[in-house]
Amino acid sequence: MSGSVARLNAIAAINTTETNPGVTDLSKPIDEVFGSNTFSLSVMQKCLPKAIYKSIIHTIESGSKLDPSVADTVATAMKNWAMERGATHYAHVFYPLTGLSAEKHDSFLAPDGKGGITAEFTGKTLIQGEPDASSFPSGGIRATFEARGYTAWDVSSPAYILENENGTTLCIPTAFVSWTGEALDKKTPLLRSMQALNVQAQRILKLFGTEDPGFITSTAGPEQEYFLIDTNFYFSRPDLFSGGRTVFGAPSPKGHEFDDHYFGAIPEKVLAFMHDAERQLYKLGVPIKTRHNEVAPGQYEIAPVFESANIATDHNQLVMYILKTVARKYGMTCLMAEKPFAGINGSGKHVNFSLGGAKVGNLLDPGDTPHSNAQFLVFCAAVIRAVSKFAPLLRAVMATAGNDHRLGANEAPPAIISIFLGDQLTDIFEQIKKGGAKKSKTQSDLVIGADIIPPLPMDAGDRNRTSPFAFTGNRFEFRAVGSDQSIAGPLVAMNTILCDSLDYIATELEKVGNSNETKFNAAEQKVLKKIITEHESVIFNGDGYSDEWHEEAARRGLPNLRTTVDALPALTHKDTVAIFKKHKVLSKVELESRLEIYYEQYVLKINVEANVAIELAQTLILPAAFRYQGELARTATQLKTLAISYDTESLEKLTSLIQDLEKKLTNLRKIKEHEAGSIKKEAAYACDKITPAISDLRTTVDELENIVADDLWPLPTYQEMLFIK
Ligand code: ADP
Ligand code: MG
Repeated sequence: MSGSVARLNAIAAINTTETNPGVTDLSKPIDEVFGSNTFSLSVMQKCLPKAIYKSIIHTIESGSKLDPSVADTVATAMKNWAMERGATHYAHVFYPLTGLSAEKHDSFLAPDGKGGITAEFTGKTLIQGEPDASSFPSGGIRATFEARGYTAWDVSSPAYILENENGTTLCIPTAFVSWTGEALDKKTPLLRSMQALNVQAQRILKLFGTEDPGFITSTAGPEQEYFLIDTNFYFSRPDLFSGGRTVFGAPSPKGHEFDDHYFGAIPEKVLAFMHDAERQLYKLGVPIKTRHNEVAPGQYEIAPVFESANIATDHNQLVMYILKTVARKYGMTCLMAEKPFAGINGSGKHVNFSLGGAKVGNLLDPGDTPHSNAQFLVFCAAVIRAVSKFAPLLRAVMATAGNDHRLGANEAPPAIISIFLGDQLTDIFEQIKKGGAKKSKTQSDLVIGADIIPPLPMDAGDRNRTSPFAFTGNRFEFRAVGSDQSIAGPLVAMNTILCDSLDYIATELEKVGNSNETKFNAAEQKVLKKIITEHESVIFNGDGYSDEWHEEAARRGLPNLRTTVDALPALTHKDTVAIFKKHKVLSKVELESRLEIYYEQYVLKINVEANVAIELAQTLILPAAFRYQGELARTATQLKTLAISYDTESLEKLTSLIQDLEKKLTNLRKIKEHEAGSIKKEAAYACDKITPAISDLRTTVDELENIVADDLWPLPTYQEMLFIK
């Protein structure tokens, strides 16, 4: 492997990069580090008057209204706490519909009128901020001249200190709404949907005899996948740094076919990076639990312990941010895109989902004998009905240009939404369908055969890695979510469709009431039977990656929405609008604005990719190909003058590829210049016309990569990016 001068320099730089910038101070025990940069409940308990602390706890634990009169005291305590940690500024952090985190920093400092300065932070500034909202997409909710947007303090998500070598900032998680109160962000509907889910879950729990179940919250544990490549390569690939994914690149001679990366030993430099990133996350109170190599070379995963959906979402945004910033210190770049490298395993975000509360525990925990655990079966059936009824919506909330390269492409999970239930639960629902569940299939201990190793209790169901939505023992794992996405959208959808199911079941059961046990049991069996009979087609325990499943799913009539353009319309389908309205999660206008913004994001992304592809092909690939062509032509002429026979095969192949490339470049340019009309039409055009033209161009570029002399090839190759660290 040699490469162009730029690539040789990049490789040389990699060898001299410091492996460990030596930043981690290990002198403090981890329990002192954890949460040290968060304005957590325990900090509040220490620094707030008792009554005020109680009022805050009440708001958080019961999901009730915040008493605005406590804000001044909290603000002062928060400011003092932050300034002790070096903060000079505060920022309302919000989560606009681009999926990123946004923040506007303001200083605490104000002139004291005597030539000095004082620090100020009032309750009003804590509760409400007013960033200029005009640059954030609103999908037509408000015109730019009505640029007002407000950020509103989310008391349930702890404020935190973000450190930088030259200063620190107090960050306050907020919701972001227009001046007319419409949600412009990801957090607002998430909070609304959690509140709605609580109401519906309470109805079910009361029917089952729990008088005061406490606040029921949805819980989420997102497993985050990502790639690390050396930053020298990253900056030599304009497609990566402007679009997040490579638009060109021939396959590396070695991929992941040896399965030698998954769970393999983590390279030293990467491990140093992980320790550092995790320590930063611990300080921010993010309970990181798991780290390992993923399937592809250069691919890794990080997962926290689950938390309430709202906090898990904020924490996942922090995880993405910290991974990206810390990687830089180690000379690496963290790629979050769903499919940075064609032909190489993509990155997803497996969102583990459940619901429960402090008093009632996890409501999706089946216990040892699920067949007799009616309350569990009701919650489980509610999920089955929700996913089956709203499969297109679930596909829509993870539809992005990037994720299309995973879902519906030659990679799993497929775009078909199905549920893996496992043997035990499938069997129980079969029994219910036939008239009543009498037993739960059990598993005996797993005997290893070496006496020194004790027998292990076996799980009742095997795991399945190919289902987009799998029951994994005491929760569902939503695997189709993209690595680069905010998990808020999928969680809002899950909460709301689950509300619809719980509402339906509760309404049926309330008709009978629970005063007569026999009647109640009969009603509950009836509703379970009806749900499973109507929705069993969504259950699939086999290999979701197989072609047979695609055929079988089509026979069952399950939707297979392959692209973002196919999937997005479900956001404003009348059934979606109806449940989102009923449970007050998003209004029709808000849903429509979201649809518009997601189309827009899709179109922008594809257009950037087209522009980058054109630029690279024109200014890097073609010149390299011409140079090599000249070299071959000169060799041919010289050999001819020497009367040595010369095989022109390479030259001819190259020449024909160059002609192809020029044709395809012209084609892509022509296709790009157009006016499709509405944003929906633009999106369809990007999907049907621009994307194929980029792929078409790619085929030729990748063929060229395989014949042009390596020292002339201008871009880092897949082999270099994936294997040299
Ligand atoms: P896997 O074996 O699926 O890769 P991991 O250990 O990487 O599992 O991640 C599993 C995730 O599921 C963790 O974030 C874990 O905290 C989360 N999880 C466990 N129980 C629940 C629950 N009740 N609700 C939501 N998430 C949960
Ligand atoms: Mg995992």
